[in-house]
Amino acid sequence: MTRQLKSFIEVAQDSDFPIQNLPYGVFSETAEGTRRIGVALGEWVVDLAALEAHGYLALQSGEQYFNQPTLNKFIDSGKSSWSKVRAELQKLLSADNAELRDNSALREQVFFKQANVTLHLPVHVPGYTDFYSSKEHATNVGCMFRDPKNALLANWSELPVGYNGRASSVIVSGTDIVRPSGQIKLPNEERPQFSACRKLDFELETGFIIGKQNQLGQPITVENAWDHIFGMVLFNDWSARDLQQWEYVPLGPFNSKTFASSISPWIVTLEALEPFKTSSPVQEPQPLAYLREDHSANSYDIQLSVEIQAEQAAQADVICETNFKYMYWSMAQQLAHHTIAGCNVQVGDLMGSGTISGPTPDSYGSLLEITWNATKPLTLSNGEQRTFIQDGDTVIMKGHCEKDGLRIGFGEVSGKILPALQFDFQ
Ligand code: MN
Repeated sequence: MTRQLKSFIEVAQDSDFPIQNLPYGVFSETAEGTRRIGVALGEWVVDLAALEAHGYLALQSGEQYFNQPTLNKFIDSGKSSWSKVRAELQKLLSADNAELRDNSALREQVFFKQANVTLHLPVHVPGYTDFYSSKEHATNVGCMFRDPKNALLANWSELPVGYNGRASSVIVSGTDIVRPSGQIKLPNEERPQFSACRKLDFELETGFIIGKQNQLGQPITVENAWDHIFGMVLFNDWSARDLQQWEYVPLGPFNSKTFASSISPWIVTLEALEPFKTSSPVQEPQPLAYLREDHSANSYDIQLSVEIQAEQAAQADVICETNFKYMYWSMAQQLAHHTIAGCNVQVGDLMGSGTISGPTPDSYGSLLEITWNATKPLTLSNGEQRTFIQDGDTVIMKGHCEKDGLRIGFGEVSGKILPALQFDFQ
C-alpha cells in the first residue's frame, strides 16, 4: 500500500527521497539564516517549521518541535511522535490530498529547492562511539598488522569491540577537513617525528542516532534496543593511519580519529528502512545470553559506495562498493553491549558501525585495505595513483536501498582534504 503512495511533488525514479523516505535534516535559506527542520522529498526540502506554524504536525499544544536548530527536541518527543509526524506528512504530501497540493500560497512557504539551501548538522551530538563490527575489516587489519593465522583477537567474536570517540568534531557533509599533523614513528627510526599525516584514510561506515535515553545503571536489552534508535546516517570516520599506528597502544585511537568525523545531513528513519530488513551473518560461537537475538531480520540491505574526486579530475571514480548487511554485530547488539555495564546513552548520540568491508577486494571500506597498506596503489581514471588520500581530494560516500521498484536513499556524505597547517616549530 505505502509502496504505491505517490506525492503531488514529482520525484525522479532514481531519487533517494520518495514520499516513502522523508528523512529529517536541518536547513537554512542562507548560510547564516535561521535553522529549522525539514524533510527531503525529491529535489525539495519540506519546511516542517512552516507547516507547524500553520497548525500542522502538532504534538503538544504550545510547543515548537520544528522551529529548532537541531532535531534533538523532536527526537526526544518519542517514537509514537515520530510515527505520527511521518503518517501526517505522508498524508499531507500525497497526490490525492488537495489540502496542501492546491494551496499555492502555503506551498510557496513550505517547499525549498535542496540546491538553494544550506544543510547543517542535523543533531546536537552529546556523545560518539565507534564500533569495529565488520568481520572482513577486522580480519584484513589483523592480517596486515598482526598474524594472518590469528587475524581476529579472541574477544572479537564474543563482543562488539568499540571505543569512545570525540563528539565535538562530528561535522556535516560538505565541511572541509585540514590534514591532521602529529607524531609519526617510522619503523627504522628510534624516536617519532612531528609530521603532517602521510597515510590519511576514510572509513566507510553508517551511524545510528540514539532516539531514547536510558537511565544510568539500567542497561538496554537487545530486544528493546530497536526502540532506542531514531535513524541512520552515512558516516566517514576519517583516520590518520600513521598517527594511529604509533599512538593506539594500549588505550586505542586518539588524535588519529579526533580531528573530524563526517555524517550525511539526512537522517533516514528505521520506519523508512523497514522494507529492507534482512538477516545478519550467523554468529559462531553463539554470543553470551545478553547479546543473543533472533537474527532473521536484524540488519538492513543497504548498498554503499565510495568515490574519490581528485582536484583536477573531470569526474569522481567509484573505488569500492559494499553492503551494510555484511556487518557481524547488529545495531541492537552494539547498543545492548554499550549499556550492559551501566552506561547511559543520550538522545542524539552517534554510534558508528565500524568500517564496512565486504568479502572481496572491491568491497573493502578503507584505503588501508584497498591498497593493502600502500603496497597495491589504485589508479584513478585520470591516470593519477593513490595509496592514501591526497590534498585536494574529495571523498564521497553514497548509500541506498532498492527493492521492487522502491528506492530509499541516504544522499551522500562528502568531505574535501585541505593541506596541513604549517607550524612555527617545523
Ligand atoms: Mn571507525
